[in-house]
Amino acid sequence: MPKEQAEFEAGMQAHVERGEKGVKTSWDEVNLPMVRHWVQAMDDNNPVYTDAEFAAGTRHGGLVAPPTMLQAWTMKGVKDQAPGSSTTDPMADVFDALTEAGYPAVVATNCEQTYLRYVKPGEKLHHTYRLESISGEKKTGLGIGYFITQLMEYFTEDEEKVAEMRFTILRYKPAQREPKRPPRARPGMTRDTEFFWQGLHEDNKLLIQRCLSCGQLRHPPAPMCPHCQSLQHDTVEASGKATLYSHVTMHHPPLPAFEYPNTIALVELEEGTRLLAGLIDIDRDELEIGMPLQLEIVRCDDELSVPMFRRAS
Ligand code: ZN
Repeated sequence: MPKEQAEFEAGMQAHVERGEKGVKTSWDEVNLPMVRHWVQAMDDNNPVYTDAEFAAGTRHGGLVAPPTMLQAWTMKGVKDQAPGSSTTDPMADVFDALTEAGYPAVVATNCEQTYLRYVKPGEKLHHTYRLESISGEKKTGLGIGYFITQLMEYFTEDEEKVAEMRFTILRYKPAQREPKRPPRARPGMTRDTEFFWQGLHEDNKLLIQRCLSCGQLRHPPAPMCPHCQSLQHDTVEASGKATLYSHVTMHHPPLPAFEYPNTIALVELEEGTRLLAGLIDIDRDELEIGMPLQLEIVRCDDELSVPMFRRAS
């Protein structure tokens, strides 16, 4: 572990050991109107929370508040903490240190509440909070970080403890996720065109179809010569020298397999046939019709290689 990180962790452990506490008080006593709103929102129909006559006949001897309402009693208002709450947060320097050390992101990971007894309307609660523990540096799916557990202890006005809560968060460095580019769509491959794709991928050659009867070259591949209608053909390998015949820049729809702006060139090979191909390292505004280009066969993945062109040196 780097010295700096060891010091940082020691600083946080010292904070745990100091056990510095903050206090949060409540605006109101435990009260029936808030309970009524809560049980209706939660659809909890236990009459011990709202029916005084029923509650009087239970072991509680009167109304009690739902235990899981615990956090509601000392929750800060929309604007302010209740009077008597700590004005400075003893946890703030820990959180600031984590941000400074490069762990700015936060996610709550666990909340565990323990109820020691029911609280009743009329009781006024406050809770203390402190840093209880901090983990070593952990690797998580979200990123590398520290699990930090705060302990909140809830008391009545005469300091009887009624509940506690452990709240754990992860402070982490968001993992840098490289967006994974999906593979290019496969070209339509038939028995007439497979020589072209195989030549690129397996032999690193750009092949041009040639009529065996009249010698004309043709692209795209086709079974019959458009000049003499012969069905006999073989191939010749292109030299790779070419010029830019025309170009177009694709904007929509954006396909995730390609980088944008996606300029597609119509390239005229030295041998005279033309083909569509992508360009490498040429900005759109540098393109000039007739500019000399050089073939580069680019391996896209384990199955596919495509012809591309860069500026001829
Ligand atoms: Zn022919």
